[in-house]
Amino acid sequence: MPLMVLSRQRVARCLTVLIAAGAFSSAIARDVDVLAYRVRIDPDLAARSLTGAETVQVVANITGTAVLELDAGGLTIDSVTSDAGPLVFAREGKQLRVMLPATLHAGQPMDVHLTYHGKPTFGLEFHPETEQLYTIFSTSEWLPSIDAPDARATLDLSVAVPATFDAIGNGRMVSRTPLEHGRVLYRWQQDVPVPGFVYGFAAGRFHGVDQKAPGVSLRFLSRDLGKDQLKQVFGDTADMLAFFGDKAGTPYTGSYQQALVTDTIGQELAGFALMSEAYGQDVLKDPTREDLIAHEAAHQWWGIRVTCESWNDFWLNEGFANFMAAAWAQHRFGDAVYDATVDRWRQRVERLVSEGKDHPLVYTQWVKPTRDDRAVVYQKGAYALHLLRRELGEDAFWKGIRDYTRQFAGKSVTTADFRKSMELSSGRDLSAFFARWVTGKNAHP
Ligand SMILES: [Zn+2]
Repeated sequence: MPLMVLSRQRVARCLTVLIAAGAFSSAIARDVDVLAYRVRIDPDLAARSLTGAETVQVVANITGTAVLELDAGGLTIDSVTSDAGPLVFAREGKQLRVMLPATLHAGQPMDVHLTYHGKPTFGLEFHPETEQLYTIFSTSEWLPSIDAPDARATLDLSVAVPATFDAIGNGRMVSRTPLEHGRVLYRWQQDVPVPGFVYGFAAGRFHGVDQKAPGVSLRFLSRDLGKDQLKQVFGDTADMLAFFGDKAGTPYTGSYQQALVTDTIGQELAGFALMSEAYGQDVLKDPTREDLIAHEAAHQWWGIRVTCESWNDFWLNEGFANFMAAAWAQHRFGDAVYDATVDRWRQRVERLVSEGKDHPLVYTQWVKPTRDDRAVVYQKGAYALHLLRRELGEDAFWKGIRDYTRQFAGKSVTTADFRKSMELSSGRDLSAFFARWVTGKNAHP
């Protein structure tokens, strides 16, 4: 996944009341958590714009004046109300701050209703020329929500699209209802709380193929490829999910959908993944190019079920997905493919070191990452996992991965959590390994 880290500008307007209430003292612990989002989006493909109506179910962690902080991208907020009437709100850069009633008690849930509109320049991709509409990070560019990876909530998402469109979204589709002007309203429910950065949908005039695997229903979508080609591109998906489920010690169940869209570098979302049509063509020509399919599928465990607590530990999402894709390739295509991948990682790490660009896998501030920072997280992260596998041996390494994944399913993790799992499973002190490869830098491969 690509990552936007948003800078926060200070905007004073309308904030006087909130500041007077002493609402901005807490930077890490949130005064207010979001339990659920219920939202309807009405996009206009030709105008590249949208309107939205959203209900955010929140719970305050403090008694007294609490402030709900949401990321709202470039959206214009038209109204914010509770069931009792209007609420005071203000923008600070891309953030929206809503002052909740002073009578709210800690632990007491309430609904906050928002209406908004906008013309997102990213986050939601409008492609009238190919008749497609799909999401790419960041969610807050089309849905006011919390971008931070440690905030999990359920999602009930409805999107109005032309009746000729097929669409996929998070969780299970609960309805497809005809609307006026030749449109339909798709509605999906994501009942298991997940981080907001994996919310999304894709809609367009797709061909679709359905397949059944044990415990999982699969769907592949594309505008350009026919059904036989789709089956060829995504033919290993069921085996991949079974492989990762085995490595994770916890199976994938429900539905998993993959769509080839007009243009993206590839993106994991809860219950589905988006890749580009051009990438699909690559896999048709060379099946060993399915590493991105495997990378995004691996994220359903490492990234979505088990999520880095902050972007500083992003390697726990991306280094893992890269490593697991290589482990799949080893299983599917043999040791030579795995070894070649490991060698590419090693060379990239060597280049980081020789250019003085090496960095610990754990960042103190993951802001505006460079290409080299991404190489650290994606390639060095995967390489460190390979070295740990070699260090511990197959049994202890994979037992540790299973224990870690099962223990932290549905939770946020830090690098310390991962280290502890691996130390417990192997019965070894891994401080030297982690100091060299994870929290240290200038490592010599
Ligand atoms: Zn990824």
